[in-house]
Amino acid sequence: MKENKISMNHDLREKCGLFAILGCQDAARLTYLGLYALQHRGQESAGIISTDGEQIFSHKGMGLVGHIFKENILKTLEGDTACGHVRYSTTGRSHIENAQPFLVNFLSGKLAVAHNGNIVNAQKLRKDLESKGSIFQTTMDTEIIVHLMARSRKPSIVEKLADSLKKLRGAFSLVFMTEKSIIAARDPHGVRPLCIGKIGEKYIITSETCALDLIEADYIRDVEPGEIIEITDQGLKSFRYTPKIKHKYCVFEYIYFSRPDSNIFGENVYLTRKRLGKRMAVEAPVDADIVVPMPDSGIYAALGYSEESGIPFEVGVIRNHYVGRTFIHPAQSIRDFAVRVKLNPIASVIKGKRVILVDDSIVRGTTSKKRVKTLWKAGAKEIHMRISCPPIRHPCYYGIDFPSPEELIASDKTEDEIAKFLGVDSLAYLSLKGMLNAMFQNNDQFCTACFSGDYPIAVNKDMRKDCLENIPR
Ligand code: SF4
Repeated sequence: MKENKISMNHDLREKCGLFAILGCQDAARLTYLGLYALQHRGQESAGIISTDGEQIFSHKGMGLVGHIFKENILKTLEGDTACGHVRYSTTGRSHIENAQPFLVNFLSGKLAVAHNGNIVNAQKLRKDLESKGSIFQTTMDTEIIVHLMARSRKPSIVEKLADSLKKLRGAFSLVFMTEKSIIAARDPHGVRPLCIGKIGEKYIITSETCALDLIEADYIRDVEPGEIIEITDQGLKSFRYTPKIKHKYCVFEYIYFSRPDSNIFGENVYLTRKRLGKRMAVEAPVDADIVVPMPDSGIYAALGYSEESGIPFEVGVIRNHYVGRTFIHPAQSIRDFAVRVKLNPIASVIKGKRVILVDDSIVRGTTSKKRVKTLWKAGAKEIHMRISCPPIRHPCYYGIDFPSPEELIASDKTEDEIAKFLGVDSLAYLSLKGMLNAMFQNNDQFCTACFSGDYPIAVNKDMRKDCLENIPR
């Protein structure tokens, strides 16, 4: 028997999730719960660093939050202030030394840093810093920020940070922790989400509101793009380190990455996904018997499609939620075992039906092809695939682990060719205009580069090469 890697739910991987809290009893335990809620944003490693105002306590590990942090570990993370991070590496290798938060000696104390996003000019900044004598401990782009801060001549830590952030290009939502404060910052375009919450009188910073809900904290507001927030026992202070520019929120946070129960960029993810499905029904109607989602990512768009079209929604494919990242392969050969162990069509629902199969996106196409095959095997009469976003044709340089451009099925194939490859009767993607119209905000406030190739933060040839080379496969 051999042990096989099983792919996660998708060919795209979210980058990271952040959580920090100041001045609260059980800070590490609340951080643990916050990270638990943010587990979908990174399953490779997790870490919590806490402080009692004098000493620093830290624990990091590879794997899932629930496996890394047990009662005996949480007890060692003392103090009323903590920050935590879940990671799927988009840059830097998959090793424990690259797990975050990243801890350094800074001025006369310690500084912990956690980062979500990707700095596109990281390699250039790193080379410049190395040429001036900086020695790096990790391969993470996050470490560059600390080196820039150490070199800044500004007097306070917030001013040093502001000075450093102005040199960065890319997507970054950041959380810092000192013995006395929590500091948060967001890139000028606000590509990745970051919000402020409160539990009683105590402030929290986190990536998504689902982390606040779990610990019964209230959402206060988002950290604004281009803003630095400093939280101390004196309260919260806000600073702008750059003039306001057009927001470029990652539209994929709505399509796939964020949890449906979160509100990000000012709107609920579930409702947005449903609206995407409704638009699909208007743009690409088809005569069929049932609307079936590809679980879990296609569920909300499928609900919208069904509601708009009047065609009944059926959960025709069941996902096994207890499958880990690895499994023991059966001794006997079972065709498409990796797909079946995770997703199983209900033949009694599918058999003899004209099925509208809804998914959130197609990346390589190979997983979708295998899933379609299982529906045919279950007796589907027709399969019409509907995708609630436009074709993905370009890589992401802002913190999402995309396959290389050649691996993206839509990079060189037409919709008809893709339909043929997948083995479906018809295939339709939501148009770019339709996707943006389903957003509640102004259409021009979103990054759509992976669909349109229109990169809002300039990425030159060398940066592209660096970013793609640094994506671990
Ligand atoms: S390129 Fe795509 S995945 Fe990356 S930030 Fe833009 S919309 Fe999001």
